[in-house]
Amino acid sequence: MNNKQYDAVIIGAGIIGNCISYEMALKGYKTLNIDKLGGSGFGSTAGSCAIIRLYYSSPEGVALAREGYYYWLDWNRYLNVTDPDGMAYYKNTGAMVFKSDINKNLAPVMESLDALGVGYRELSPGDMKQYLPNPDLRSYHPQKLMDDPEFGKPTGPSINGAVYVPESGYVSDPKLSTHNVEMAVRNVGGDFMFNAEVTDILTKDGRAAGVTLKDGTVIEAPIVVNVAGPHSYFINRMAGIEDKMNIKTRALRVEVAHVPSPQGVDWENTGVITSDSDTGVYTRPETGNHWLIGSEEPKCDPLEYVDPDDYNQNFTDQLKTQAMRQAMRVPDLPIPNKNQGLVDLYDVSDDWYPIYDKSDLPGFYLAIGTSGNQYKNAPAVGSFMSELIQYCEAGNNHDRDPLQYKMKYIDRTLDIGFFSRNREINKDSSFSVIG
Ligand SMILES: Cc1cc2nc3c(=O)[nH]c(=O)nc-3n(C[C@H](O)[C@H](O)[C@H](O)COP(=O)(O)OP(=O)(O)OC[C@H]3O[C@@H](n4cnc5c(N)ncnc54)[C@H](O)[C@@H]3O)c2cc1C
Repeated sequence: MNNKQYDAVIIGAGIIGNCISYEMALKGYKTLNIDKLGGSGFGSTAGSCAIIRLYYSSPEGVALAREGYYYWLDWNRYLNVTDPDGMAYYKNTGAMVFKSDINKNLAPVMESLDALGVGYRELSPGDMKQYLPNPDLRSYHPQKLMDDPEFGKPTGPSINGAVYVPESGYVSDPKLSTHNVEMAVRNVGGDFMFNAEVTDILTKDGRAAGVTLKDGTVIEAPIVVNVAGPHSYFINRMAGIEDKMNIKTRALRVEVAHVPSPQGVDWENTGVITSDSDTGVYTRPETGNHWLIGSEEPKCDPLEYVDPDDYNQNFTDQLKTQAMRQAMRVPDLPIPNKNQGLVDLYDVSDDWYPIYDKSDLPGFYLAIGTSGNQYKNAPAVGSFMSELIQYCEAGNNHDRDPLQYKMKYIDRTLDIGFFSRNREINKDSSFSVIG
């Protein structure tokens, strides 16, 4: 039995878990983040590409991303601490999103950007040459696997153009950014416990009452928040609520390739983020003058749902496939013989939209199913999750009367019911990391 008194236990010290405890601690809750790993951001946050982009296909998606973006612009002032390990920073690059039939030539995205007043430029294929070194702008869609004889062969004379969004970039170091938040949480009275694995959720009188750790330690608290990333469904099972949710979460194994820039191209300083639905990959510039290449889950690629405690951490053909897909677009891209990159997990929900909600167990809250695209939103999520918890603990029924969250930077209200665990599967979703 840990004899400190806590108002809330937050399971997980990733970027979202830490941002939630920061906002809760600012509201006066005594918080404890518990993580089974050795430090903040050591889980899936560490592998994040940390891309901050505003293009989503719904106005809600754009609004939340834009709200999050402002926190990153104002990071040091927001956290109000100086981390002795250094401060992460946002680097603006701009982003070029390819039009294609799959994304309806970005009509819904442009409509949503317009609704939020986000500026962008429509580019013809000719204009796109300005943003990519010596590109091949033929169409390669539909994508194929490497062993298909048609792999790498163009299927059409030209892609349809693109939308360029200048307000886009990435955060220098996602793990460090999470440590920055830990410093801010400690500064306002929150505690952390590392190398401590939650193995059970305690209940008392029909509500959450704390957690039990693997070594038998019991920590009591009337509020427990599941922010366990790819392990979120394990925690839901411990709380006995998984079967009561319409939308579930699973761990998806993903690979991200790192490839050096073509010779003579300073991609680290001049490169943009790309989202290419025609070749099925997204990229961003990486330190060391590299390209970082992730997948947009084209239909031919099998999705590999895994046990987050037991999965293949070695590179497979997937890594090379992603690099080769990008080399279709930028033929000068050198593909090294030795694979470089990373293997990590997304916590994917059934419709690839996150779940930010209460649960059927009073006092037990969910910030899960972040589906490979919620790093950017973490500070804004921290803010509305702390309000959601206050709202529910004050006796409001969020299922019936969902919290309407007034954003801090944007003059807009977000219906938090949009992220309900009991929503119908959102059929407008891309069912990919794009959201
Ligand atoms: C390869 C990759 C690329 C991505 N790229 C982007 C991007 O470009 N832009 C973007 O916006 N998003 C991106 N994302 C998504 C984003 O990184 C995640 O949504 C975000 O980091 C999730 O943070 P989290 O705090 O919810 O989870 P995590 O960082 O996974 O933290 C969960 C923590 O819970 C702990 N935990 C689990 N079970 C237990 C237990 N039983 N007891 C104690 N602790 C436990 C884990 O150890 C872990 O540290 C990417 C993700 C990946 C994997």
